Amino acid sequence: MSYAGPDFEPPQPRRPRRGPLTVALAALVPGALLGWLVYETVGGSGDTGGPDRASTSTSASAAPTEPTGDGKQPGPSPTPTASAPAASGPLKGKVVVIDPGHNPGNFRHPSEINRTVDIGTNRKECDTTGTSTNDGYTEAEFTLDVAHRMRALLEKQGAAVKLTQDGDRPYGPCVDERARIGNEAKADAVVSIHADGSGAGNRGFHVILPGSVRAGAADTRAIVAPSRDLGERVAGRFVAVTGSAPSNYAGDGGGLVTRKDLGGLNLSTVPKVFIECGNMRDSKDAALLTSGAWRQKAAQGISEGIVSFLRG
Ligand code: ZN
Repeated sequence: MSYAGPDFEPPQPRRPRRGPLTVALAALVPGALLGWLVYETVGGSGDTGGPDRASTSTSASAAPTEPTGDGKQPGPSPTPTASAPAASGPLKGKVVVIDPGHNPGNFRHPSEINRTVDIGTNRKECDTTGTSTNDGYTEAEFTLDVAHRMRALLEKQGAAVKLTQDGDRPYGPCVDERARIGNEAKADAVVSIHADGSGAGNRGFHVILPGSVRAGAADTRAIVAPSRDLGERVAGRFVAVTGSAPSNYAGDGGGLVTRKDLGGLNLSTVPKVFIECGNMRDSKDAALLTSGAWRQKAAQGISEGIVSFLRG
């Protein structure tokens, strides 16, 4: 918690507003011409347009959608007929739940987080504190930061994004509730963000897939296959964007691990994976995990995997 490193804020393009100037312009320029201007400025963009360009594109594209034709439209100038670019990306209509592992407040609530909950196969602690780097940068801080960066990226693609916690509650949620939040949101994909606390020298990331479980309230049979698909895509894009190697201590060498002991997976009824982004207790991995620029890449890699999964 004490770490206050070189943070690099996730790009949060403020949704641009139509300034009075643009409105005036829209009223003055005949429809056809404006349409052409819009075409020129916006081009095919949509996906990666930088924040600066955004202001021209939104204001412009809002105005002239009414076609070209007559040009003269008396009365109050054209209303921005919706079509906000954020809601119309390729993930429009998709719901993504991001589950930032642990909670910065868990340390202060040992009895609450140690109580056990039913995960179908057995009972397990509600939640845990998570780990930290040797310098005290906590996993909970890491997971929330990556989640925020992912939310910005995925919302830009048009997805509806929900976090299971946003540092907005004293502790938790418990693992069963984390699963329930994804289920009740009818999420198209859920990714739980973590970083590991293994021995020094153990390096790299791994993605955890649900094994086939049927016990008590747990029945993962329907999500095993789609979750594997999601996990493979997340792992692939994570490697590509961060350059990190798959774990040298967990899994099959390809960064994939299947587990049947995690409540957050056992109780999920929607495609879900965990990712351990690196090992906080290894100094080389810790140097990456504490870098804002690296976390942005991590968020991007995971998000690209989700996008790929959702687009099929
Ligand atoms: Zn964790």
